[in-house]
Amino acid sequence: MALIVQKFGGTSVGDPDRIKRVARRIADTSRAGNEVIVVVSAMGRSTDDLIALAADITPDPPAREMDMLLTAGERISMALVAMALHAEGVEAVSLTGSQAGILTDNEHGSAKITEIRGDRIRNSLDEGKVVIVAGFQGVSPDTKEVTTLGRGGSDATAVALAAAHHAEVCEIYTDVDGVFTADPRVVPTARKLDEISFDEMLELASSGAGVLMARSVEVGRRFNIPIHVRSSFHTNPGTWVKETTMEQAIVSGVAHDTSQAKVTVAGVPDTPGVAARLFEAMSGGGVNVDMIVQNVSRAGHTDISFTVPRIQAHKAGQLAEAVGAELGSGPIDLNESIAKVSLIGAGMKSESGIAARVFRALADKSINIDMISTSSIRISCVVPEADVNNAVGTLVSLFNLEEVAEEVGA
Ligand code: ADP
Ligand code: ASP
Ligand code: MG
Repeated sequence: MALIVQKFGGTSVGDPDRIKRVARRIADTSRAGNEVIVVVSAMGRSTDDLIALAADITPDPPAREMDMLLTAGERISMALVAMALHAEGVEAVSLTGSQAGILTDNEHGSAKITEIRGDRIRNSLDEGKVVIVAGFQGVSPDTKEVTTLGRGGSDATAVALAAAHHAEVCEIYTDVDGVFTADPRVVPTARKLDEISFDEMLELASSGAGVLMARSVEVGRRFNIPIHVRSSFHTNPGTWVKETTMEQAIVSGVAHDTSQAKVTVAGVPDTPGVAARLFEAMSGGGVNVDMIVQNVSRAGHTDISFTVPRIQAHKAGQLAEAVGAELGSGPIDLNESIAKVSLIGAGMKSESGIAARVFRALADKSINIDMISTSSIRISCVVPEADVNNAVGTLVSLFNLEEVAEEVGA
């Protein structure tokens, strides 16, 4: 008997008909002789709606209450899916993250899973029940408070449960057919990948491909849990995210991220300890810095630019002002109209000239590159936000990442 974890995203449980369809799919998996743990997201856009509701009450809601509010979304879906399964004649029980034994640290809004206590789920499975778990949430054993894992966190719930319960596979059901070479909403001609390695998927997800939460891929890689990303609207195979793939393509995909802003501190003294002061201030203020570029020094002064999540831009600007005043540096500039475009591929390690081709192709489209950063399997460029779709499309066609039209008679 195999144990399978199935996670259904917001669109997949977006209305009563979809919930009934999801229940039929779970029932089929269960009747085929598998043990099934199901993880559900909140219905449709209800997490966004709850966030907007809180903002209508106060601009600064307490983090604890925010988590109490947001976890309600997943709680609604879990109960409805369990009811739909009962209506299908399948025994099922729904559990909150806390009831499912998901323990986290105390970071409200971005808690990390620290441990999973598996007994309650195991007992229910042994009783022949399908277990439905509310995604995106857990409980802190220190504070006894309910926590959320961060946006997209139901993916992390699913893969972590798959690891803790030694599942054969973690299936992520979503509103696209799998992982594509670029976001299919931006590049409709992007190609679906049959498989991709954990390393490449981690880079894609961390670079903005929201189809999987990056932390879920990290857990999958650590515990070697194959993740099958597939459509909840049909039964065709999707994309397998797994340890090794048959072939290492030079380039696997392009991700983009429009959630960052760029901060530039001009004219900082080029002396030891200056960067340390600036970034200590950022980390002390809880600002997550991503790319950093320091210019060549002129007359003992230099400019430092870095990117931060756009929602933290204001705070980062204030912290930079404070450090800048101490250091006697020049003005701070905040640019919230940037985007990061990233090219990812494990085969890039052993291939030279990829970066030059990227820069040339963007230049030919008159797209200005503002910042560049690389890893052994990624090249990221910051470009104006207005050019992001053009940049992604350009790289998709440059590296032949489009769907190949089927040959007639082939
Ligand atoms: P769910 O609610 O099921 O978790 P998400 O909206 O979080 O769904 O993730 C699915 C979305 O991810 C797709 O609708 C798609 O627009 C987006 N996406 C971004 N990059 C990619 C990619 N490379 N491949 C597939 N989907 C992607
Ligand atoms: N409902 C949460 C969100 O919208 C978690 C998830 O869907 O994975 O971020
Ligand atoms: Mg998601």
